[in-house]
Amino acid sequence: MNVSVCTHRKIILPCGLKDIDYQVDPYVGCEHYCHYCYALATAETDWSKEIQIHNHIVDQLSEEIDKIAPQTIYMGYHTDPYQPCEAEYRQTRNALELFLKKGFSASILTKSDLVVRDIDVLKKMKNAAVSVSVAFNDNSTRRLFEAATMDTEKRIEALRRLKQAGVRTGALVCPVIPYLTDAVELIDRLAPHAEVIWVYGLAIDDRWGQQWATVKKILSRHFPDLTEPIETAVFSKQDRYWTRLKENLAALKNDRQLNLNVHL
Ligand code: SF4
Repeated sequence: MNVSVCTHRKIILPCGLKDIDYQVDPYVGCEHYCHYCYALATAETDWSKEIQIHNHIVDQLSEEIDKIAPQTIYMGYHTDPYQPCEAEYRQTRNALELFLKKGFSASILTKSDLVVRDIDVLKKMKNAAVSVSVAFNDNSTRRLFEAATMDTEKRIEALRRLKQAGVRTGALVCPVIPYLTDAVELIDRLAPHAEVIWVYGLAIDDRWGQQWATVKKILSRHFPDLTEPIETAVFSKQDRYWTRLKENLAALKNDRQLNLNVHL
């Protein structure tokens, strides 16, 4: 992976999430390179070959952060803060240490278990939260769609360790790929370790765009019998697949009294 440096780019940006005003992406680009990722279409570099880091992230962040009141900053909005190069470049770790020093907190979304490295910092923050997202029950299917991410088991184990350390935890089952993702089974595995779980379906707007073309190529090659029903469901939120899944999840939520938020 080629890691280049970008300069003169604002690091703290507005965040569209409820109750969080600002977000930081420690990396520009994401070497996880999930084939369904909507952001690939607007990527500034080819994420399979090159991502970027901010030049002197601590100095610049320090300047920007002094202009806002201490609060929770979201990390993981456009790119994964714990993508593999974080083990070496520590952009996320450095940002977290600065947040802690300045009385800020972080809410993190990742697909990696590298986040457990930073438990020591996270547990000192007043309000830190970490969520992991998972989409695949078995790793052979996962590797087809997101070859550079961690095993599902490792992500769940990371949640377990974070919760044990007293850090607030959450999970996203995302994206649910119709007929491939068994959301109920994943929720079953996640529930003991996540205080809240969100479920999102695979969202692709443009049937003729690159995002669907890439996903369909994988489906046609590895799941030829399912490609047509998956396509039908992806482009129709009224499809019976979603109706049944919503019913099953509503029953699961009720039976198990889960903090489950379904957005299908
Ligand atoms: S981890 Fe998230 S940001 Fe990174 S490629 Fe995958 S979906 Fe995109």
